[in-house]
Amino acid sequence: MMHPAPMIGRLWIAGEWQDIGSGEWLSRSPSDPETIIGRFPIATPEQIDRAIATARDAFPSWRRQSRILRAECFDRLARLIERDTDSLAQLMAMEIGKPLSECRAEVIEGLHMVQYVFGTGREPIGQIVASEIPEKDAFVRRVPKGVVAVITPWNFPFAVPLWMLGPSLLEGNTVLFKPSESSPAVGQRLVELFLEAGFPGEVLQLLHGADAVGERLVQSPVVQVVLFTGSAAVGRTIMQQSAGMSDRIVAAEMGGKNAVIIAADAQLEMAVNAAILSAFKTAGQRCVSASRLIVAESLLARFTERFVATADRLRIGNPLNPQTFYGPLIHAAARDNVLRYNALAESEGAEILRRGGPIQPSDAPHGYFLSPQIYRLDSPKARCLQEEVFGPHVGIVSFRELPEAIDLANGTDYGLSLAVITESYRTMRLIREECRFGMGYVNLPCIGAEVHLPFGGVKRSGNGHPSAAGLVDTVTHRIAWTVNHGESIRMAQGLTAEVP
Ligand code: NAD
Repeated sequence: MMHPAPMIGRLWIAGEWQDIGSGEWLSRSPSDPETIIGRFPIATPEQIDRAIATARDAFPSWRRQSRILRAECFDRLARLIERDTDSLAQLMAMEIGKPLSECRAEVIEGLHMVQYVFGTGREPIGQIVASEIPEKDAFVRRVPKGVVAVITPWNFPFAVPLWMLGPSLLEGNTVLFKPSESSPAVGQRLVELFLEAGFPGEVLQLLHGADAVGERLVQSPVVQVVLFTGSAAVGRTIMQQSAGMSDRIVAAEMGGKNAVIIAADAQLEMAVNAAILSAFKTAGQRCVSASRLIVAESLLARFTERFVATADRLRIGNPLNPQTFYGPLIHAAARDNVLRYNALAESEGAEILRRGGPIQPSDAPHGYFLSPQIYRLDSPKARCLQEEVFGPHVGIVSFRELPEAIDLANGTDYGLSLAVITESYRTMRLIREECRFGMGYVNLPCIGAEVHLPFGGVKRSGNGHPSAAGLVDTVTHRIAWTVNHGESIRMAQGLTAEVP
């Protein structure tokens, strides 16, 4: 595989690049682990503490800066992302193994977030509201929270950080950014672009490393907000560690056990396409990937046959090959985890309709590739139908009446995304009203996002602080500001203002 020399990894702390940390971490391409994408220093505890102190000290002047000038940095950033779209997509495809067209789409999504943030720069930052007392003017103003830690996963290494960095910095917060240890190169390129766009060097810090680096950020009482996207287990740990800090906000976007409901009146071709995209796009490594297909019994045989036949034809291989539908799993441990779930499904009584396993595509024979696993299992409480698998692994469950499908869809600890394939507006509405999810789709796959919509789930999938456009409420505090224009003090609710 052709690739330029490995990237030199650097930390961005206190306005300067630092290329030495506590050790070196190699980012390898999952489609060819011999290819080294870059060598990255792991931030030491002292470097992390310095980054935290810098973010704290930079906050007052960044907060006082004109919001419009902050927004204009995002305008310049948008142009740089447009300039570098192709090279960013290429780097991402190499580093995380997503097909190039998907990586390009992700860069565009990141661009849209930056454009959205720029566009809100001149929008109101508060409201004027009435007071019970006519002489009083009452205002609501949004003010930044302070220091924000942004801890992100590998599977959307460009768009997800921008969902968080954008609103945080626009509103006047300063940010400590820890990209995933599996996508440090994309994280570093993003920070380089922020600096080129003219963001002051102290308002954004880049810290490479894995759990220990994230943990030290979470443990710091200076950090007012933790914006976390990743697995439910890590999200829960972060929330537990933050519980003692009463003014700490944690926004946690986590995993899913998402489903596509295929109603009896579904158009078969649309159902098959939606199910394939939901289950296997990105090799099932999206938080919103479906690992459950809830199919009306009357359609089951026809759907299953077409679904399995289409899965057989999927082209799996080198992410740089334009024909590739999906690429490798991110690393050997992720591949092995999916293989364990494949075996578990069988031991839990599944009828295997298509056996998945390791493959060696001719255009990338050394990567962590897996073919799709499809099974039929009518035991909804089986672990394979309850736990997030994060790979090309999907179970088909059948139902007779719609309430059964609703119970099945709701019957996990997660609640991130859900799709229904139907021609009936009554079915569609019932699903919308009765199912618990953050992102719902009708006659679409249960994947895909647009930045001006909130992105976040319920139950183990998220704690109610949606990302992207929804995040502004998490990184700001709404203050009330009441001004009396009268000659004397008058209080609301008839409270007496007399002082004896
Ligand atoms: P992960 O939870 O392993 O890691 C996420 C980030 O947390 C990484 O940067 C990691 O270094 C850091 N981290 C790990 N342990 C930590 C700790 N103890 N304290 C602080 N930080 C710590 O997740 P991943 O494997 O990178 O990503 C896959 C997961 O992310 C899946 O569960 C997927 O569903 C989820 N995800 C969710 C969304 C969403 O918006 N809901 C989006 C993308 C991915």
